[in-house]
Amino acid sequence: MFFVFKAGIEDADRERLLTELRDQGLRTLAVSGNGARAHALVGATSVLEGLDLDRHPWVEEVIRDAAPYKRASRALHPEDTVVKVGGVPIGGDIFIVIAGPCAVESEAQVEAAAEAVAAAGGRGMRGGAYKPRTSPYSFQGHGALGIELLVAAAGRHALPVVTEILDVADLPHFQNKVGALQIGARNMQNYALLREAGKSGMPVVLKRGLCATLEELLLASEYILNEGNDQVILCERGIRTFETATRNTLDLNGVAWLKHHTHLPVLVDPSHGTGLAELVAPLAKASVAVGADGLLIEVHPQPAEALSDGRQSLTPDGFAQLMRELKPFVEATGRRL
Ligand code: PEP
Ligand code: MN
Repeated sequence: MFFVFKAGIEDADRERLLTELRDQGLRTLAVSGNGARAHALVGATSVLEGLDLDRHPWVEEVIRDAAPYKRASRALHPEDTVVKVGGVPIGGDIFIVIAGPCAVESEAQVEAAAEAVAAAGGRGMRGGAYKPRTSPYSFQGHGALGIELLVAAAGRHALPVVTEILDVADLPHFQNKVGALQIGARNMQNYALLREAGKSGMPVVLKRGLCATLEELLLASEYILNEGNDQVILCERGIRTFETATRNTLDLNGVAWLKHHTHLPVLVDPSHGTGLAELVAPLAKASVAVGADGLLIEVHPQPAEALSDGRQSLTPDGFAQLMRELKPFVEATGRRL
């Protein structure tokens, strides 16, 4: 449940009513972007019946909303949130593409990838230095060194970096270097990591878990938002279904649903969503149509040699072609690429 104070209510009066509500055992959360007038009430709101909040002289409106996520909800934050990643706005009228290899492999590899991404019009660079691999025998990434290589290559092409963090202890390697922390599908419900990412104040790209519902994704985002960090970008990257022809099933329903229910920007990752390079372009176009704010795409200078996810990675030429093909789709939705 939410309620909104009338404009012009004195701070002391406002605090008096909030204290009264807290004394009833409720938690009150100020919702950002509303001049501190909007508050969510969390807890057993049945105690409110006696208070008659709807008719309270300082209250403009009570919104009954059963959704358990509050700060991420669009109900009291109708305007889209725009998150800046190294100066690049995500969630406004620009549709942005962040691309790069699955994993940082070598200096030459990230340099070639960064050049390809920048030349084709990508606005950010991705690449994993700490890799969450299904098998402990697969390439695990170059760690802190990988971040150095990625940041240096991306920097030469003026691209901010998005890269995955697996462990809160590694945070110093990311701070003041990368544009956004990525929390991957496997860690979407790692609540300690979510809280620390929130406390870092850095923009966070939060990927949907393989088997997570949309509500669980929004509740995960709430852990970051609750730390006072509103720089959260959601990412649909495909979910596990009975289908085996593709690596995952890209849930474009979910993207349209998220755009209705949250003000946070939503990216789509058609690379992990399909697992097949030849399906990346059609799903990228479909993502534009369902209202996504941008894409996360895997690009490798030589996909056949990639240490991870080569099968779903675009070549530099393939990426350039995708960007050309994407333009009219983006413009048809009234946005710019
Ligand atoms: C990635 O983006 O490289 C990655 C590991 O993605 P996900 O967490 O979606 O599997
Ligand atoms: Mn990958």
